[in-house]
Amino acid sequence: MKIIGIIGGGQLARMLALSAYPLGFKIVIYSNEEDSSATLISNKSIIGDYNDEDKLLEFASSVDILTFEFENIDYQILKKIEDLYPNKLFPKANSLCVSNNRFREKKFFNDLGIKTAKFWEIKSFGELKRIVEENDKTQYIIKTCEQGYDGKGQIKIDKQADLDNIKKSLMEGREYILEEVVNFKKEVSIILVRSKTGEISHFPIPENIHKDGILRTSFVPNSLSIEINNEIERIGEKVAKALEYIGIMAIEFFIDKNDGIIVNEMAPRVHNSGHYTQNACNISQFEAHIRAISGLSIREIKLLNSCKMRNLIGNEISYIENFFSMENAYPHIYGKNIVKEGRKMAHVNIINTKLELYIEYNNLQ
Ligand code: AMP
Repeated sequence: MKIIGIIGGGQLARMLALSAYPLGFKIVIYSNEEDSSATLISNKSIIGDYNDEDKLLEFASSVDILTFEFENIDYQILKKIEDLYPNKLFPKANSLCVSNNRFREKKFFNDLGIKTAKFWEIKSFGELKRIVEENDKTQYIIKTCEQGYDGKGQIKIDKQADLDNIKKSLMEGREYILEEVVNFKKEVSIILVRSKTGEISHFPIPENIHKDGILRTSFVPNSLSIEINNEIERIGEKVAKALEYIGIMAIEFFIDKNDGIIVNEMAPRVHNSGHYTQNACNISQFEAHIRAISGLSIREIKLLNSCKMRNLIGNEISYIENFFSMENAYPHIYGKNIVKEGRKMAHVNIINTKLELYIEYNNLQ
């Protein structure tokens, strides 16, 4: 039996593992936590720091195929693994190098002719102050260039903002990116998969609703025109080809008031907005990733049902009971022991169901 190693022990690794078992793989997890979502269900787990190069190299040597479920990994370590063990790590380190620094990522998109929000690299508070005062745009977001997710490390800045107060929130020695706020009408994402032989398939494009920077709901089919859907697919293919990508990739977009398509960011991994695929498609994003990185064929992707995915965040996990008795609802619980504010605890996919029924069952909007 071949062994797939996954760096990261969260819910994405857990769901990758659950998809890999029926295909005949063993799963070994590398995590910094003993009781993480994925270590609880893996064949074996290695507990170590994500910056421990020696331990990660040893881990890489012990598996047949290697992948990762999150982006805050030092890409230099992944590059070393790739050089030592060619054809083991998928996707390759280059995609993580692009995605784990917001400035590099936006430059990469712009170099491919893909539109992003206007942005500035910020290395000092003085620079931030000058740009905000010189430009007459009213709203900006300042984000850490690295290590931010789910809205963490982000502050909105408007004309009335007290810049001196914002200064206190910025950490000395960290790099930031300042972005213009996009006045979007919708957010969507593309989940695509590229095989080892270069074929690209994509899942239906979900429409996404965020609150406080965290994804709440994704649903398919989306309400955008065929032309916009086609253009998003074209952008996805361009990015996947440019990176010679293998596996599942997600790209998040804003659609502005004039139907302009603006890329927000990419994720070189399975993605929360693709969870709906577990119950709405003939193959899930997790299975498609496992198939792509192990060289198995990927069947033509089909949408079988309309679907609404709802994340249960923090204390919302208590609503899970309602969904057990609801027809067409498929709960996916992550097995996390401790409930924390803002922590993703589970999600529910509701297929083929009328919106009213969905609302009746949740007070979660
Ligand atoms: P991010 O961490 O960059 O994915 O941001 C999380 C969420 O914050 C996005 O999905 C948007 O809802 C919002 N957001 C981030 N950047 C911008 C922006 N430049 N303009 C408008 N909304 C944004």
